[in-house]
Formats: sequence, C-alpha cells, structure tokens
Amino acid sequence: MKTRISTEWLSGCSGCHVAVVDLHEKLLNLLDDVEFVRIPVLMDEKGYPEADVGLVEGAIRSEHDRKALLRMRETCKTLVAFGTCAVYGGPSGIGWLYEKDSILNKIYKDTVTASADGKLPDGAPELEQSVTPLNEVVDIDFYIPGCPPHPYFIALALKTLLGASVPAISIKTVCSACNRRMAKREGVILQRGMSTAPEEDICLLSQGVICLGSVTLDRCQAQCPNKGVACAGCSGPSMDLIIEPHLDIRTMIARRMSLLTGIDRSKIQKYIEKEAKTFYSYAISSSVIYKKPTVEIRNWAGN
Ligand code: SF4
Ligand code: SF4
Ligand code: SF4
Repeated sequence: MKTRISTEWLSGCSGCHVAVVDLHEKLLNLLDDVEFVRIPVLMDEKGYPEADVGLVEGAIRSEHDRKALLRMRETCKTLVAFGTCAVYGGPSGIGWLYEKDSILNKIYKDTVTASADGKLPDGAPELEQSVTPLNEVVDIDFYIPGCPPHPYFIALALKTLLGASVPAISIKTVCSACNRRMAKREGVILQRGMSTAPEEDICLLSQGVICLGSVTLDRCQAQCPNKGVACAGCSGPSMDLIIEPHLDIRTMIARRMSLLTGIDRSKIQKYIEKEAKTFYSYAISSSVIYKKPTVEIRNWAGN
C-alpha cells in the first residue's frame, strides 16, 4: 500500500514546495511508494484528506494559517515542519519585530503604492499579531530546516518516513562541509555588507567577511561558501546554539573572527547587532533565539 502524503503551505514563499518538485527523477522513484493526496503546487485540493505524512511549509501569520495547521495535525499521522519558515519562522519572521498595524499601514496606507482607499483588499486573511513557528501551536514529529530544504535531505527524510532504516542525521555545522580552511591573517579589515572575498580556499571569516557557517546546521552541504558566498544561516541555528542558552550568534562569530584576524571582538559584535535584521533573519521569531538572555534583537533593530 502506498504512503499517503499531504502538504500545505502557510505564510512562506512556496519555495519549499518547489524544492519537492526539484527532486526530479528521485520524485518519480518515490511515486512508486507514495501517493500525494494533497499538494498545492501540483493539484487543486481544498480539503484535508487523511494522510500518513503531512509536510507543512511556512509559518503562522494569519487566522487562516492557524486553522490550516490544526486541520493538518488532525488529518496527518506524522507531521513535519518543512523548511526554515515552518521550523523557526524564517525570513517572514522579520514581522515579529513590528506591530501588526504598522505593517498593514505601511502596505495599504503610507506608501505611494498603497491602495486608493487605504483599505485591505477583499478576502485578505486576518493577520495575527506576530509570526509563530509551527511547534508553538501543535506537536511536530519531524523538522526539516532549510530555505528551502536541500533535495538531498528531503529525499533522505522521505525515505525514512517511508519505513527504511533511520538515517544518522548529522548535527554538524556548515563549516564541516566547507572546503575553505580557517587560517590566521594579519591586517584584515572588517568587511561591511560584503559576502565574498578574494582567497578561494581560505575561510571567509579569516578574510574579514561575516559567514554564519559555524553557527548554522549543515542541511545544504555548504553550498554557499563552496561557491564563494558567505553563509547567511538559512538552515537555522546549529545544535549547540539551540541547546546552550548562553551561546549566541554574535558572540560566537565575533570570538572566532577576532581570533583569526585580530579585529577587535566588540567591533564585530556591534556590527552584527547593528545588522541584526540580516544576521538573525532566519530564526528571529523563534523562542530558540529571542528568549536567550543575551539577545535583544528588538533593541538592536531599533524597534
Ligand atoms: S523556508 Fe524559505 S523557501 Fe521555504 S517557504 Fe520559507 S522562505 Fe520560502
Ligand atoms: S565560517 Fe564559513 S567560510 Fe569559514 S569554514 Fe565555516 S562555512 Fe567555510
Ligand atoms: S550555506 Fe548557509 S545560507 Fe547557504 S544554503 Fe547553506 S545554510 Fe543556507
């Protein structure tokens, strides 16, 4: 009998669903064993059929999102938070920094592109006050972070859920898969807003560029630094960052970069605080981050 899979997208960009389609021939192989009973990217199914596995993309931002998530929990035996928005709030979690009304006013009243009468369009969903990751509302059985999740890890997870042996899920950071080497460098300047550096085989931190690879779970095989671009942390915090309340992105990165380059640690910390919306963007609305005693994102971001 085929495993029945149901998917839903909440507030996100639908990129996680596109990543399922990106499985290419692996998806065709899977179709021998699974039946998609609901998948908005491929079929028009408004109901919530009973399913063995549910994949939910996106965070909760509206009344509609909350109801849809509850329906998915009711109808799916195993529920998966699929993608960084579902696990940590993701990029749309930036809304956690602002009052709901200030966001609505910005879009519909205070800008040149606002609607003529300043009203919400008909049928617009009722927004909740903030952005909420899924596990704050229902029990989640599995988490697949990534923005979007890498096809390798989607295939691995689906294989597991289809009853094959349980794979050893690595808790290593992006650095573990990065081909660059950390090395001490002198006379390095902190690069603001830069995402790449000239030496191809040397760690970006050693070259003054802030790379979040050492504080990010490897769910992507280090695809950014291996192609020359700093890791932006899209797979979410590393396991030590999640488990240890006193560890924080800015202190860990500042310490490491200062050791490699001699740049003053407080200068690096202050820069990361000033750009908190960028460096904390993927998990800003997750209690894993904002409840840390040393994290004051709202202050840093001036909200
Ligand atoms: S995790 Fe990334 S790809 Fe997936 S819905 Fe959120 S923003 Fe889009
Ligand atoms: S910090 Fe970035 S560039 Fe340096 S080793 Fe880690 S992933 Fe690679
Ligand atoms: S290297 Fe970092 S930003 Fe790039 S895909 Fe991996 S986790 Fe995301």
